Amino acid sequence: MEVARSIAEMRAIVKDWRKSDQRVSLVPTMGALHEGHLSLVHKGKERTDKSIVSIFVNPAQFAPHEDFNTYPREEERDFAALRHANVDLVYAPDVKEIYPENHHTKVEVQGISQLLEGQFRPQFFIGVATVVAKLLVQVMPDVALFGEKDYQQLCVIRAMARDLDIPVDVLGGETIRESDGLAMSSRNAYLTNAERTLAPRLYQEITAIAEQVSAGADIDQVCAAASKGLSESGFKAIDYIVVKDADTLEDPTPGRPMRVLAAAWLGRTRLIDNIAVPA
Ligand code: AMP
Repeated sequence: MEVARSIAEMRAIVKDWRKSDQRVSLVPTMGALHEGHLSLVHKGKERTDKSIVSIFVNPAQFAPHEDFNTYPREEERDFAALRHANVDLVYAPDVKEIYPENHHTKVEVQGISQLLEGQFRPQFFIGVATVVAKLLVQVMPDVALFGEKDYQQLCVIRAMARDLDIPVDVLGGETIRESDGLAMSSRNAYLTNAERTLAPRLYQEITAIAEQVSAGADIDQVCAAASKGLSESGFKAIDYIVVKDADTLEDPTPGRPMRVLAAAWLGRTRLIDNIAVPA
């Protein structure tokens, strides 16, 4: 497994692969890797000859009061996991490589970025779209993989790649969960033991909503009941627990696919999760 710290080093390696027409996949991550990240790596490896994982904790997607400084950084452990997964190249640039002092460009996908997460983290998707656009232009992969765990992010990135005519297949990967249903996340490390016991309740509530809505229940009623259930069980604040159109994330319209999406706080940890409403 090779490790590149600069754009130039990474490009030299990819250029060499391209000489023999090898196809390349990229999985962008912020490190602190778990099975969710690795499932994207495996999916990429099934589709391409060479596999790249980027590790970059992107300051542009953290608000000043958020956890940029405390976000888990475990490079040696991550490299070992990626070696074990037979990744060909880890691209781990530092902040100055991605955002030199003369960097002034931001990428904003209007509309969908302002919904849901955008209401609570107004700069978040600008930071995400900017760094992912840069990574895609730097690496020029054939395939880039993102988790459904961050469903709105996947929608934003698909729109960004389409609008900027970036020639890449954006593929989603299913959410990988702990055995009790909690969606794997690097931020789960913040949970206390008591919070970790409570955490799967979020998945239980969105699963219940999906089943009931699929059976014809009133959306507002089931979402209100789920929100009440979460609050009573010890979740501190429910940012949203909603059912939306699976493509636009706007209010659902009859006959179109739907998605349940939720974000809620347990102590100082913000959990997000989502699930499809069965057709
Ligand atoms: P992150 O390192 O949290 O920025 O995540 C990097 C990529 O892994 C993103 O595309 C995430 O959506 C994806 N991801 C994170 N958690 C999971 C999970 N539990 N299952 C599948 N993909 C995930």
